[in-house]
Amino acid sequence: MSKKPVIGISTSVIIDNTKGFLGYEKVYVNKDYVDAVIQNGGIPLMIPFSEDEKVIESQVELVDAVILSGGHDVFPAHYNREPQPKLGDVFPERDKYDFKILECAKKRKIPILGICRGMQIINVYEGGTLYQDLSYIGRDVLKHVQGGKPYMRTHYIEIDTESILGKIFSENRFMVNSFHHQAIENIGKDLKVIANASDGIIEAVEHKNYPFLVGVQWHPEMLFKKYEPMNKLFERLINESKK
Ligand code: MN
Repeated sequence: MSKKPVIGISTSVIIDNTKGFLGYEKVYVNKDYVDAVIQNGGIPLMIPFSEDEKVIESQVELVDAVILSGGHDVFPAHYNREPQPKLGDVFPERDKYDFKILECAKKRKIPILGICRGMQIINVYEGGTLYQDLSYIGRDVLKHVQGGKPYMRTHYIEIDTESILGKIFSENRFMVNSFHHQAIENIGKDLKVIANASDGIIEAVEHKNYPFLVGVQWHPEMLFKKYEPMNKLFERLINESKK
């Protein structure tokens, strides 16, 4: 394929708080997802949030791969749990939108990359569960909500060398950024853990029998400008989309 692959990026809704449009709803995604796709040879296309499943289905037909972007905590009822006090803001309608994107993308067997919430959505979709806050794990863990700049790398991860990520990165232990107060508890049925932090927190997953379905708990799109190897992840996603 000589044409550059089109990479669909899931979006969220933000309430405008500027004068004049106070309370207005806007569909958005952080610009660094867009930049990361362009930088690595893809054509980014936002998939605007909607609750219309038929529309979502048609949107996914337009793209060669999808990135499930970050955002709200997953609504606990979607993994059969009641909300605990430290649960963050939720957006159940967006969960359903993301689940629909996943369902349609899987039907088409196109590459899927979940980032942060995107990885958690993949896990819940595949039947897994989440810790609603890291404090509920019941043991000491690292600081996973880092202070400082988004492009700072603050904790190490160790990657399974036999995994997709193991083949993408030349090193199997390196530092990443960290902006999550939740984590995977039970792993989804057809998923496999492929990276952990030194405290055991799950930092990446892949699907056991799908061509390319990867979830990462960190934010590669916030890193690629300052940390060159992170481009390889987007490059691989985009190359997979050409198949
Ligand atoms: Mn982390």
